[in-house]
Amino acid sequence: MTRSFSINNRDYLRKFNNTCVVICLDGSQKEYLDETSKANLTPNLDKIIKKGEYLMAHSAIPSFTNPNNISIVTGQPSSVHGICGNFFYTPLTGEEVMMNDPQYLRAPTIFEKYYEIGAKIALVTAKDKLRTLLGNGLKYNDNRALCFSAEKSDQATMELNGIDNINEWLGMPVPEVYSVELSEFVMAAGVKLMKEYNPDIMYLSTTDYIQHKYEPGHEVANKFYSMFDGYIGQLDSMGAMLVITADHGMKPKSKEDGSPNAIFLQDHLDLAFSKGKTKVILPITDPYVVHHGALGSFATIYLEDKNDLDAVINEIKKIKEIEVVLNKEEACVTYNLPEDRTGDIICMSSEFMTIGSSRDKHDLSGLNEPLRSHGGLHERQVPFIINKKMNKIDPNKQLYNYDAFYYAIMGAGVN
Ligand SMILES: [Zn+2]
Repeated sequence: MTRSFSINNRDYLRKFNNTCVVICLDGSQKEYLDETSKANLTPNLDKIIKKGEYLMAHSAIPSFTNPNNISIVTGQPSSVHGICGNFFYTPLTGEEVMMNDPQYLRAPTIFEKYYEIGAKIALVTAKDKLRTLLGNGLKYNDNRALCFSAEKSDQATMELNGIDNINEWLGMPVPEVYSVELSEFVMAAGVKLMKEYNPDIMYLSTTDYIQHKYEPGHEVANKFYSMFDGYIGQLDSMGAMLVITADHGMKPKSKEDGSPNAIFLQDHLDLAFSKGKTKVILPITDPYVVHHGALGSFATIYLEDKNDLDAVINEIKKIKEIEVVLNKEEACVTYNLPEDRTGDIICMSSEFMTIGSSRDKHDLSGLNEPLRSHGGLHERQVPFIINKKMNKIDPNKQLYNYDAFYYAIMGAGVN
C-alpha cells in the first residue's frame, strides 16, 4: 500500500501518529490575536507560536464563512467544491437556493475520505448551518465518526450525529445562538473529545458573533481569545498536532456617526438602468443576519440582457468605493469560483465599505453596534498558526487557509 492517497487532487498521508486538529476561529482578523497577546492574555498561544509557526494565509474569495469552512475541509477553493456563498441564484426560475444542503457539494470532504480508509473523525461546529455539509459521507453506526453543532446540541442523536445527551456529557446547556458560549462550547467539546474519544482527525469551527460586534483589543474580544487560549493549551499539552486558522478576517464598516457604510447597489443600478435589468445577489445573506444586516463586501450581479455587460461594468466602475469589478469569466479564473453559481459580474468594495442590494431590503434593526463585516479582499488575510516548525512550507508560494489539513496531517506524520 502506498503511503499517501489523493483527496481532491492533493496527496495526503494515510497514517500519522498524533491527532490532527484544525481550528477555524471564525472572523479572526490577525489583530485580535495580537492585541490579546499584548495584554498577556494568551500564554498558551504565545508558547505555541514560539515553538511553531505564525504565518499569514489567504482565505478563499468571497471571504465568507461557508465557502471558507468548506474550502478548509475539502482542501480546495469553491471552483472545486461548489459552495461559493450561503445561497446561489437561478436566473431561469428566479429562485434563490440555500447551499447548506450536501447535494450542492461537488467534492468529498477530507473527513469522508479518511473515514473510508478507517480513520476516526470528530467534527464540532458552533452553528448548525454547517453541520450537514461537514458530516457529508460519514456514517455514525460504528463509533468512528461524530458530528454535531453547539447550537442544536440538545437535538443530537446517535443515528444522525454519532453522539447523544451532549449537554449532560459536557456539563454545558445549549448556548444562545448569539453568544460567546456558542464558541466556547465547541472548544470545550473538542478538549473532552480529545481526552475521551481519541479521534485521528478533529475539526472545530467557531462563530464570529464577537468579531462582528467588538474590535480587536476590546475587553470583550480579549476575554474571548483568552478563553480560547485555555482550551488551546489543553489540546497542545495532550499532544494534538494543531493548525489554527480563520475563515476570513473582519473590518470596521461604519460611518463616524455609527451608521453602516454601504453602497446600495441595486438602487444605484435601478436608477442607472431600468428596474429588472440587473439583479444584485449578496451571498452573505442567511437566516442569521442580526450582527451584519446582510451587509458584506462582495456582490454578484445577474443581467437580464447579456448585451448590457459592458455598460453595467462601466457604471459600477464609476462608484468610488467599489474596488474590483470583473466579468464572470475573469472573476472565476482570478478567484477560483464556480462559473455556474456566479453572476455575470462580481464586485468587491473597499476596506471600510460594504455593498447592499436595495436599502429597503436590509433589516438593520438588530445592529446595535457599529457595523463590522467581511467578504472582500481586505478580509482575506488570515492567521495560520501551527504548533510545530514546518520547514516544508514554501515561503514563495501563496499559503491558503484551506491548506490547513494538508499541513496538519503532514506535521502529524513525522516525528
Ligand atoms: Zn465567518
